[in-house]
Parts: sequence; structure tokens; C-alpha cells
Amino acid sequence: MWDSILNLIFPPRCEVCKSDSKEALCQTCFQDIKFMKPHLGIYSIAVYDGALRTAIHRFKFKGKKRLAEPLGIIMVKYLSQAPMLEMKEIDVIIPVPLHKKRLRQRGFNQAELLGNVLSRYYGTSLVSALERVNNTQAQFDLPRQERFNNITGAFKVVDSQSVYNKRVLLLDDIYTTGATIAECSKVLKIAGAKRVEVMTLSRAVDS
Ligand SMILES: [Zn+2]
Repeated sequence: MWDSILNLIFPPRCEVCKSDSKEALCQTCFQDIKFMKPHLGIYSIAVYDGALRTAIHRFKFKGKKRLAEPLGIIMVKYLSQAPMLEMKEIDVIIPVPLHKKRLRQRGFNQAELLGNVLSRYYGTSLVSALERVNNTQAQFDLPRQERFNNITGAFKVVDSQSVYNKRVLLLDDIYTTGATIAECSKVLKIAGAKRVEVMTLSRAVDS
């Protein structure tokens, strides 16, 4: 009842193109997504450009949390077609963490919200087992080599029980140089993870 009144006042719109759409991401914008094949053992689902780039940007920086659902569903759809990665072989989903200062500014961790969708869909537990200890400079401001130096020692495992001897799916929203993912994977393996699979919703591709 209340929802339908709200819908009359604020008809639901696509968060990307603003057309009338019940979903936060409309069909036209969804069709714009360019899916990718796994590369070097990393499951990056789609190219970080066009509608997906806008969607991720509005999700993270404009607080459009309702985008978590359709963006998470993109991951679910991909997984249902990726024969190399079986969710039933994953014990725990671990999101790449934000530093608590940034978490406070943003109010949520986008990787965790995406992970929640997967967790709900597959019944796999999601644990925020990593913590970001250094408030590193934003990675995209830095040249490539410095991104790797900048990130060393930036993460620690805060819930080792959820990592030790576990098959982990490490999750993030975007893959750029791979520095963050490499460092998180390293820390998880040192903590005894049996296997670390990596999935990112998007991947920045040089054009
Ligand atoms: Zn749209």
C-alpha cells in the first residue's frame, strides 16, 4: 500500500538512464553490459564501461544502494554459466574491505552488499574476514608500480577461523591493476586458505 503510494509520487526509474523501470537497472542498460571470459584465473564479469560503469559509480559514490540487487544478480547469472567456478565448492565469500574511515564516509562496503546477494542466492556464508589497516591513497590516483607498493601490508585477516582450510571466494566490485586482489589473496593464503578464487563485478580495460 505505502509502496504503491510512493510509486505514484516517485515512479521507479532506472538508476542509470532514468527511464521508467521497476528494476534499478533497466533492460536496455543491462543489454549494454559487455561480459568477459575468465582471465588468468580471475573471474571478472564485465567490462568497466558504459552503463555498468555508471551503475557502479552511482552505487558507490551516490549511495544508490538499490543497485546492489541487480548488480549482484549479474554475478549470479554469470556464475550459472561459468562452468569453471562452482559455488558449491566455495565455503565462504569474503569481500575486499574498505578502511573504516572510508566505510564511515560511504556508509556501506559495496563489495559486501554484492556479496550479500550471492550469499542469499547460494546459501554460502559471507564473512568480513579481512580488514584494511592502512588508509592507503586511492589506488586510481597512482601509477601502476606505485599501486603495488602502496598496497603492501594494507590488509589483515581478522577472522582466521573463517579462512583457515577454507575455499574462499574473494569478491570486489572492480579490478584495475590487480594490486588489491593480489595483496588480499596473499594475506588469505598466509592465513591458511585452502583455495582462493577471485571474482570482480567489473574490470577496467585499456581501450
Ligand atoms: Zn537504464
